[in-house]
Amino acid sequence: MRFYSTNNRKINRSLREAVIQGLAEDEGLFMPVHIPSFPPPFFDEIKKLSFSEIAVRTAILYFRDDIPEDELEALTRDAISFDTPLIQIQEGIFSLELFHGPTLAFKDVGARFMARLLSYFIRDYNREIHVLVATSGDTGSAVANGFWKVPGISVHILYPGGLVSPIQENQFTTLGENITALEVKGAFDDCQRLVKRAFLDKELSDRLVLTSANSINVARLLPQAFYYLNGYAQLESTDQDLFIAVPSGNFGNLTAAMIAWKTGLPVKKLIAATNVNDIVPEYLKTGHYDPRPSVPTIANAMDVGNPSNFIRILDLCNHSHAEIRKYLEGHAYTDDEIRHTIRNVYNKCSYVLDPHGATGYQALTDHLKNREKGRGIFIETAHPAKFADIVEDVIGRRINVPDSLRETMEKMPVKRTISAEYEDLKNYLLSLQ
Ligand SMILES: *Cc1c(COP(=O)(O)O)cnc(C)c1O
Repeated sequence: MRFYSTNNRKINRSLREAVIQGLAEDEGLFMPVHIPSFPPPFFDEIKKLSFSEIAVRTAILYFRDDIPEDELEALTRDAISFDTPLIQIQEGIFSLELFHGPTLAFKDVGARFMARLLSYFIRDYNREIHVLVATSGDTGSAVANGFWKVPGISVHILYPGGLVSPIQENQFTTLGENITALEVKGAFDDCQRLVKRAFLDKELSDRLVLTSANSINVARLLPQAFYYLNGYAQLESTDQDLFIAVPSGNFGNLTAAMIAWKTGLPVKKLIAATNVNDIVPEYLKTGHYDPRPSVPTIANAMDVGNPSNFIRILDLCNHSHAEIRKYLEGHAYTDDEIRHTIRNVYNKCSYVLDPHGATGYQALTDHLKNREKGRGIFIETAHPAKFADIVEDVIGRRINVPDSLRETMEKMPVKRTISAEYEDLKNYLLSLQ
């Protein structure tokens, strides 16, 4: 697969270059020059395949010119070590549960795949690669877990002390091995500033190989197409139009759904679900794209005021509002509406939604009730136990905490504390050689 930059179609990079570089040199995002598709009979055959088999077939379809098939198969199987079950919760309404990975959120899929792909591409470097990540919570845990024990790579997670939830903190402070948690005495913005400065520091880059595991990396984006295909594979009958609703913040997950569609997935329309940070639903309605500072909500992983991946969706639709409207619908919900949905679905279907999945459920059912007939899948992006305080309050009972999370909570966190001064981070990094 070859990649161009969203700022310049003439840039043409290999998978290896795009993965190691992350962002194009002109600060555009990498996009596939061509998205290959499966022959239509594959979509009958797919019903017999497991998630890891579907992932392997898709990885080979995308990357067969970049990596020998046997190596690609091995790394994909290793990354896709858990299932994404499709659960029917009402007639014609299905939840695609993406929270059965190690950190109980969909970001595990992309992070695990990226770690193994990067490890493959740097296997003859003979030098340790240092991944630096600034996190406000979820990304840090998915990246730390994804890269845990991956040979040749050390991960350093910078997070704002006291400002991430205890669950999130334990998910990256209790791993050990090649993962170091750096608690910064400051805010998330300080963490991000420190990481950016380290990447620009010539003295550091002369001595250490530094890279990022940013969510805009194609190695995190493209494997997210795997689970849309796996969701389709689990539908028993396929004789009605299919709609897929995706709870969205930075719109990486929705971009991956569009890529799965181009791969041949038989879907009628995609539905973008957001909280009150409704820049994209507004754009779909009015044609005006108006990024603005984000507003905090109870679906906080979607509190994004300038979605970084939306440019990729515009590119896929030739920047035409009319064209994008053929593929995409958008709905936005307030915190009160999200709470109402969680309560309603719990009472009616005994199914516990998390606040992000709740926007997806509501957008899907609103669409099917008012606009077009058919069946639908909504994406459950996180386990409700990750947002227990909000969800338990709404449904009025305790929710079951998965064993893996309970074990993580029982472990002792190990972290290093640094100040928000750059010299502190730099001294730490220099001490690693
Ligand atoms: C990251 C995240 C989202 C938003 O996904 P995007 O790809 O940024 O649109 C939604 N829900 C949860 C739980 C997340 O962690």
